[in-house]
Amino acid sequence: MSFSYQNHSLHAESVDIADLMASYGSPLYVYSRTDIENNWREFDEAFGQHPHLVCYAVKANSNIAVLNVLAKIGAGFDIVSIGEFERVLAAGGQASKCVFSGVAKTQLEIERGLEVGIRCFNVESEAELNRIEQVATRLKVKAPISIRVNPNVDAKTHPYISTGLKENKFGVDIDDAIALYEKAHNSEYINVQGLDCHIGSQLTDVLPFIDALDKVLELISKLNDRGIEIAHLDLGGGVGIRYDDERVIDISAYVGEMLRRVGDLEIILEPGRAIVGNAGIFVTKVEFLKQNSDKSFAIIDGAMNDLLRPAFYGAYHNVLPINEAAKGVDAIWDLVGPICETGDFLAKDRQLSLSEGDYLAVMSAGAYGFTMSSNYNSRPRVAEVMVSGDTHHLIRKRETIQDLFNTEYIVQSG
Ligand SMILES: *Cc1c(COP(=O)(O)O)cnc(C)c1O
Repeated sequence: MSFSYQNHSLHAESVDIADLMASYGSPLYVYSRTDIENNWREFDEAFGQHPHLVCYAVKANSNIAVLNVLAKIGAGFDIVSIGEFERVLAAGGQASKCVFSGVAKTQLEIERGLEVGIRCFNVESEAELNRIEQVATRLKVKAPISIRVNPNVDAKTHPYISTGLKENKFGVDIDDAIALYEKAHNSEYINVQGLDCHIGSQLTDVLPFIDALDKVLELISKLNDRGIEIAHLDLGGGVGIRYDDERVIDISAYVGEMLRRVGDLEIILEPGRAIVGNAGIFVTKVEFLKQNSDKSFAIIDGAMNDLLRPAFYGAYHNVLPINEAAKGVDAIWDLVGPICETGDFLAKDRQLSLSEGDYLAVMSAGAYGFTMSSNYNSRPRVAEVMVSGDTHHLIRKRETIQDLFNTEYIVQSG
């Protein structure tokens, strides 16, 4: 982890966060390049010589600088829209290392994927397979596909990020998958490549992954019996990170369990959160301290539009003062933003010593932080900075007030 105190001041690698705040203003997202690279490499190296591709899930953090850093060290990418696909291509990623997930790929998305030679479409329904076949037939190319099956295992995570149960909208029921594979296999313009599953996000236990793996391996052997070859198995993302004091999955042990079961099948993984989550922080300034008889509120300049996870999932993020030695008002604080919603908080009940003007780091904010941010309450989206060693780079400039409405039009007809 590259976020640590040096001389009582929180640093990202060798850069003092206080200096970043002076240069770039508040609030601010800060990422560590070293952490991003090390996190991806941990997955990559766990496979040793076994054929594999670690496809970073772009939706976790889609800044093109992040994608570029990962592309340079050999990452593939898991994308869910043409927007994410174009980001990857603009950042120097290769189409031949991209897998396309998501339940509703449009004609345009399929066309673009085929045109630039995407690695694989992860098909989520029969209707989607039909659409891919139509587009491929028109373009006279063979579309590479895998079918996302829903293995019906409980990922034991937050219901909003659990995707592998029958009641979820994702994937094809495992019992219906064979028929769909036969249909794909018999199509002239479909090239069956793989089998895919993704059971949820922020898993802290390896057992649901292994349950899902055993179920899909059983399906693969049934497919093989029917003469349908599966070249790769994509086990999705979902490896959890430590936000608080969670026990987390040991990646090399998880991959080891996997490799003991899969023979020489090529493995694709799609980790998002595990690559960037703890490689980023959100830094915000205390505007006002407001205490009444039973509550202490620190009103900060960051809000739910900048970092939605606490409001959306009730998610916990650790909060650290930038200046560890700061002495202010000791209390148990709720950190609340300026937005007109009671749900607008980034943390609750935190023992901190605060003064107005202090900077606070909301930790583990690198995944599903900036990418879920919005302009709610007409708040410009914040700047993002990447640190590498003792250098720092602006990777997204702060939006201006003009940016907020310069794509809008007043109706001129009176
Ligand atoms: C969201 C998602 C991922 C990434 O999940 P993480 O929990 O961030 O690793 C991977 N694959 C698919 C299909 C997804 O929807």
